[in-house]
This record gives sequence, C-alpha cells and structure tokens, in this order.
Amino acid sequence: MIDLLVAGGGPAGLATAILGARAGLEVVVLERRHGAVDKACGEGLMPHAVALLGELGVEAAGKPFHGITYTNGRHCVTGRFRGGAGRGVRRTALHAGLLEAATAAGVRIEHGDIGEVSQSATSVYCSGFHARYLAAADGLHSAIRTDLGLARSSGGPRRWGIRRHHLMAPWSDCVEVHWANDAEAYVTPVADDCVGIAILTSRKGGFDAHFSEFPALRERVEGQAHGPDRAAGPLRQRVRSRTAGRVLLVGDAAGYVDALTGEGLGIAFGAAKLLVDCVAAERPGDYDRRWRRMSRRYRLLTAAALHASASPLRPAVVPAAARFPSVFRGVVNLLAE
Ligand SMILES: Cc1cc2nc3c(=O)[nH]c(=O)nc-3n(C[C@H](O)[C@H](O)[C@H](O)COP(=O)(O)OP(=O)(O)OC[C@H]3O[C@@H](n4cnc5c(N)ncnc54)[C@H](O)[C@@H]3O)c2cc1C
Repeated sequence: MIDLLVAGGGPAGLATAILGARAGLEVVVLERRHGAVDKACGEGLMPHAVALLGELGVEAAGKPFHGITYTNGRHCVTGRFRGGAGRGVRRTALHAGLLEAATAAGVRIEHGDIGEVSQSATSVYCSGFHARYLAAADGLHSAIRTDLGLARSSGGPRRWGIRRHHLMAPWSDCVEVHWANDAEAYVTPVADDCVGIAILTSRKGGFDAHFSEFPALRERVEGQAHGPDRAAGPLRQRVRSRTAGRVLLVGDAAGYVDALTGEGLGIAFGAAKLLVDCVAAERPGDYDRRWRRMSRRYRLLTAAALHASASPLRPAVVPAAARFPSVFRGVVNLLAE
C-alpha cells in the first residue's frame, strides 16, 4: 500500500505530490495525458503564487509583472504590487518545471484514467492502486468530487474563459484587464515575445466574436501571429466539503469562483501544502476548515468582483476604480499577498 495516490497531474496534483514526497510519503500520480500539458489559463501567477512555486523549488521561465491595470477604453487605473512581482508563465513551462521537480523528489508518475474510488476506514482503492489517502486533483469538472457527492449546484450566471497567445513583445509590465459590456479580456505578458489574452464571458461564442468588443486591444495585436484558442468552463464550481473520509480535494476540484482575479494556482499551491500537512499528521478531518481559512480572502474578493461585474453597477467598476486609485491598489495588494 502506498501513502498517497494523487488523481490528476496538473499543477495542483504535482504540487501535492512534490510536497508529499518531500515529507517522506510514498506518492504516485495518475494522469491521463503525457508530457507538458497545455490548458486554457490566463497564466498570471500572483506574487503569493510565485512565492509558493519558489518553495516547491520550481524554476519556470516567464515574464514578471508588477501590478494590475483596469481599463474600459476611457478610464484606466493601475494598482502596483507593494511586495514582490507576479509572473506570467506559459502552462507548458509551468507543467514541465513541476514534472521535473516531482521526478526529482521521487514521485512515481503513472498514465491512465482515474476509475471508480472506494474506501474503507483505513485505505482507498482507485484504478488498481491501494493507498492510505487519495488527493483528488482532477480539475474543474472533477468526476471524483461528483461521485463522492461533494459537488453543490452552482447558482448565478455561467461563465467561460477562452485564451489565445499572440507572438509579440509585451507592451506593459502589468496584467491588463480590459472591460467591455459583456466580457473582460485580460492580457498577461508570458515571454519576451508572447502575450496571452484570456476572455471571460457568460455569452456563448468564439474568441474572435468576443474580441470584437475590445477594438483598441484588437487593433494592438492585429496582424501578429497567434496560436490556437483554448476554452474552459463553466468556471464556477461549488463544493459541499473538501473531504470525504480519506479522499481530499485539491486545486480546481476543491471548488472555483472565477478567473477574473487571476486566482487559481496560488490557492492550488496553498492547498497542496495544507493537504500534505493533514495527511502527514493523520488529521484529514482538519483539511476542509484549514482550506476555507487559507482561501477565504481570495474567494471573497473574487466573488465581490464577480458580483459587481454581473450587476447594474458593471459600467461603474472601472470609473470607480480610477476615481479611487488607492482603494484599487489596496484591493490588488490584498489579492497579491
Ligand atoms: C480562462 C482561465 C483563466 C485563468 N487564469 C488564471 C490566472 O491567470 N492565474 C491563475 O492562478 N489561475 C488562473 N486560472 C485557474 C487555473 O488555470 C486553475 O486554477 C489551475 O489550472 C488548477 O489546476 P488543477 O491542477 O487543479 O487542474 P488542471 O490543471 O485542470 O489539472 C487537472 C488534471 O487532471 C487530469 N484528469 C482529469 N480527469 C482525469 C481522469 N479521469 N483520469 C486521469 N487524469 C485526469 C487532467 O488531464 C489534468 O491534467 C484560469 C482558469 C481559466 C479557465
């Protein structure tokens, strides 16, 4: 019997596996895809996520950013980070760095599909593995979460994200969030010759259809080569509890609010630490409470931004932020730390 089976080898699963192996646990990761996996993501690691990545010992090439800009074409405001920088990192580079660190830590990576999960008072069975604990890191649409009855229905408008990379030099040292009537586009510098644009919206349609809502941004990238589009959603995933016996949810499987504030990876890495702490101390029952406390600030701020974006106040969001730049800077730094 192994100590910890990690179902899903995305950033959350690999971070959990690295920390688990370093804590002396025998860890296996089960992932269906091979190599460095790409995915729809804004690819902006907020400063606290960069710090956690550093603790994991992962060096991922990318491009630093120093704050967040909101603009609607008429108003513009930037909140610069007071502490360290954030980092735009291509998902493939992040995944390759995490895979390398996991292998160096002694994690065994197996490829295949996660099957049914069953458990007893002392162990968990899944896909031919017998483990003391299972970390469910199978992403936004976690089948393990659903099968164990841990999912809740998610009210409110359903939102999706679509991202595209343009091969050109970044023009800003901040992440820019462009607000249009029905969508936000955020631009992240990810390399000296690459910017990522992620569009978030509750309306159906492809990247180009939504991009027409951002004429200034579209004009800036016009004629520059770009890569393929990738989409994900619905984004909001609510969860009853992050534990069921010896199964603990981590990463997007543990619940997700929205991509609007660039959260996701920071919470995933923070949760990986808590999960391994709880497993090493044989206290899985503590995990849900500790997860909620660790992630509360980010979840509340993201939910507030999302609420404003879906309300009649939406047209006032950017003008209000521009009118009160120190308040905006304060909120940006609450999300950064
Ligand atoms: C449009 C968009 C923009 C975003 N922007 C940002 C941002 O700027 N900054 C940020 O920090 N976060 C952002 N996020 C969130 C971030 O992408 C996620 O929080 C992060 O990817 C979560 O990692 P994860 O490991 O939990 O899930 P994933 O990365 O989805 O990994 C899950 C893994 O599980 C595997 N898997 C699933 N089911 C099975 C199965 N049955 N069998 C085997 N393997 C399986 C998958 O192959 C996958 O590799 C964004 C998200 C979206 C959608």
